[in-house]
Formats: sequence, structure tokens, C-alpha cells
Amino acid sequence: MPHQNFIAGEWVDAQNGTTDSVLNPATGESIADVPASGAADVDAAVAAAKEAFGTWRTATPRARSEALLAVADAVEADLDTIKQLEMENCGKPAGMIEFEMDLTIDNWRFFAAGARNLSGLAAGEYLEDHTSYLRRDPIGVVGSIAPWNYPINMATWKLGPALAAGNTVVLKPSELTPMTALRLAEITADILPKGVLNVITGDGKSAGDALVRHPGVAMVSLTGSVETGKAIARSAADSLKRVHLELGGKAPVIIFDDADIEAAIAILTDMSYYNSGQDCTAPCRLMAGPRVFDDLVSGLTESVGQIVTGDPFAEGTAMGPVISARQRERVSGMVSRAVEAGAEVTVGGSEIDGPGFFYQPSVVVNPAQDSEIVQREVFGPVVTVQRFSDDAQALAWANDVNYGLSASVWTSDVGRAMRMTAALDFGCVWVNDHIPIVSEMPHGGFKQSGYGKDMSIYAIEAYTELKHVMIKH
Ligand code: NAD
Repeated sequence: MPHQNFIAGEWVDAQNGTTDSVLNPATGESIADVPASGAADVDAAVAAAKEAFGTWRTATPRARSEALLAVADAVEADLDTIKQLEMENCGKPAGMIEFEMDLTIDNWRFFAAGARNLSGLAAGEYLEDHTSYLRRDPIGVVGSIAPWNYPINMATWKLGPALAAGNTVVLKPSELTPMTALRLAEITADILPKGVLNVITGDGKSAGDALVRHPGVAMVSLTGSVETGKAIARSAADSLKRVHLELGGKAPVIIFDDADIEAAIAILTDMSYYNSGQDCTAPCRLMAGPRVFDDLVSGLTESVGQIVTGDPFAEGTAMGPVISARQRERVSGMVSRAVEAGAEVTVGGSEIDGPGFFYQPSVVVNPAQDSEIVQREVFGPVVTVQRFSDDAQALAWANDVNYGLSASVWTSDVGRAMRMTAALDFGCVWVNDHIPIVSEMPHGGFKQSGYGKDMSIYAIEAYTELKHVMIKH
């Protein structure tokens, strides 16, 4: 696979010839050097996407759908290589990567179907002697900026709906995890017309910022942190580009006294530490009712202590490293400050020695509601547990963060579940579960977790402009 930018169907180096090293987080060693792209490379990629837009936008929905189905088939046929690249570049254990791969293929097929199923109000005479109808036109060149936690899956969430709707794309993967985006470009080179998908590597400050500011880019779609989302919204404001933001989360997990505690412990042990906790919807902010708090803490502490952490390629490994030395420092710093502020670590709480960026799966008990570890995203293998006194306090604490991506409610009382799901300010609320997602349902935040939806038909709509055509007769 070429370690170059993919622009207009050609593999090219950064115009200034510089490269960035890509690391394996399980060993700390370099696995590739890729272009450190800048404004000139962004220019070339946007020009290619603009050129391709003329024909891609007029391709029939059927033609676009068939192309996306062929992409899904190509990804499926290449799965062994994609998995290997993702495991090396992200430190994902073999045991957990299957779901992500299955979802990726299903997402492509869903978006292929969606290309043929856009909807709007029926055409009609809403004014005498005038016929009105709606069109959903593509927006133009989309600059897609992806994070490092699920590289191929996040690239799919960006590319699938944009391409289905008739846009062309310049994709910038995270500088930490560019490998599978390059592989995707390689295996789809004969499927998508030249310039429909362009991939440029590089960091946010140079390649990312140039893409956001480029006048030829009509829409920017980011999955990333709240800070980056704010920076991008500010830069995009100069040209009033459309902006689609999927940002961070700090999911509350409200476990009532009437919940099935055994089931909650089992599910949370899997899901809170899935992908080393580097998941924007991770169930990380546990709150337990007064009667179940002690059982929850002791049960979780015991089961989390048994999570097998280590070499992602070794059989039986459940959790790998975090993505980088910097990310591990962030996790470690937040746990230390929580302890200094009076919280207790019942399991984990330390870095793991040796090569690679490993941190122990950890449980932090009784942090204050206004403490950093409750209010800010850790994005690592750490959960907090707080004790609430009644439903009103649980709801108030749950909503008392700037984030609004996802939440869960654990109870055997249907009425209580209904009241809580209605009152929680989050884009997705699970009852008696946490994390399952499906292609048909939207994923996206309230509040500072961003705006715009991924997956579902609503994602495809987000990549269209609604046009009203009115004909006088
Ligand atoms: P990040 O914000 O550091 O980087 C995301 C992307 O933005 C990268 O490609 C980066 O190069 C680019 N970027 C950074 N600064 C930029 C700038 N000024 N202009 C243009 N591009 C810029 O995020 P990350 O650390 O890669 O990912 C982790 C974050 O992503 C977490 O906050 C997580 O919650 C969030 N996330 C959200 C979702 C969701 O669906 N809501 C999904 C996955 C991850």
C-alpha cells in the first residue's frame, strides 16, 4: 500500500516532501511514514474533488448506490488486511475488532440503500396555479476530518452519507491513525471515479485547518474533540460553510436500586473498557442508588480487576493500550488529580510499565460532581462511580455536564425508564444496556457534543441542501 496522499486517483507525496511517523501504540515503534500535508496538498485535493463533483452529482441514485455496494464488497474482501492495519495502528485486540468491522460493512450497505431513499414533502399545488416540489441536492466538496479511535469506521460514517447524497470528499484521517483510510483509497480506486474520494494525511494545524478554510470546500464534517469542534466552527464561520460536528461525550449511567445489578456489572465491565475506554459513548460516569451502590462498587472492582490487558495480538487479550503517550499522560493526570481531590481508586489507577502506552482498567469512587474527572472526558479505561440519593438528584447530576452524546438508565420500572429517557439531554439513551448501535438509527449529540447526525437516513439528509422548486402555470 502506498504511504502517500491519494488525489485525483493518483498517489503523491506532500508537495513540500515532509512526512510524519505513524506509531504502533502497543510497542511505541514506528510502522510507517506518511505525508505531512499542507495547504498546497489540500488545494490539489479540493481541485480534484471539485472536478469530480460535476459528474458524481448527476450520477443516478442507482449508480451511486451500486458503487457504494461495491465499496462494501471490497472492504469485506479485504477485511484481513484492514483488521491487521487497524490492530497495529490502534492496538485493538482481535477479540473486540470484529464488531467494528461488521458495522463498517453494514454501514456501507445501509448508505448504499439510502442513496435511493431520500424523502421530502409530496409535490403539490400549495398555492393556486403553482406547483411546488422539493429536491435534495448535494452540497459540493465535503472536507471530512476523522479521529483516531475507530479510524475505518469513522471514515465510513463520513464518506458513506456524503457520497450517497452526491457530494465528493477530501478525507483527512487523524495524524495518529491514517493507515486504513489509505487502504480504503487503494481498494476503492477502481470503483469510485477519480476525484470522488481523495485522502490527504497530516495534522490538524496544517492539513486540517487548510481544509476547513479552503473556499472550494462547501461543508466540513468533523468527528473529534469539543475543542477542535469549536476551532473548526470558528474558522468555518468566515465563509459560512456548513459544519457537521460529532464531538466528545461523558455518558451518565444511572443505576437505580431496582436494577439488575449482576447484568449491569457484566455489561459495564465489557463496554466501559471496550477500545480502552476511547469511545465517545463509553459508559464512564456511573451513578448508583443508595441501596445498590456498595454492591455495584465491589462487584465492578472485582470484575474490572480481571480484565486481561496487554498485547493486542495475544489470544485472550480484552484490552490493549491507549493511542499515544500523550493520551496516557492525560488519563494518568486526571486520575491523580481525582485522588488528590478526595476520590478513591478501588482498582487500577496506574500506568503499566514496558513498551507501549498501557494504562490499567480503573474504577474511581466518590468523586465530587463538580470535579474534573466527572465534568471532563477522560477518553481512557476509567470509570467514576457516584452515589445518588433519589431520582431527582440522579437526573440533575446526569444532565449537569456540557456534553450530551449518550446516557443509560438501569431499572426494572418501565414508568421510571420512560420519565428518565424523556428528561435526559442526550442524543441517545439506552435502557438496561449501553453502547449497541445500528446503521438505521442516528448517532449524534446534544449541547457541546455537537450537531448533525451520523448513520441513519438523517445523516444522508445532513449532506444535502433542500431546494424548493415552484412552477407557475
Ligand atoms: P481531535 O479533536 O484531537 O482530532 C480530530 C481530528 O481533527 C483529527 O483528524 C485532527 O487532526 C483534526 N484537527 C485537530 N485540530 C484541528 C483544527 N484546528 N482544524 C482542523 N482539523 C483539526 O480528536 P481525537 O483526539 O482524534 O479524537 C478523540 C475525540 O473524538 C474525543 O473527544 C471523542 O469523544 C471524539 N469522538 C466523537 C465521536 C462522536 O461520534 N461524537 C466519535 C469518536 C470520537
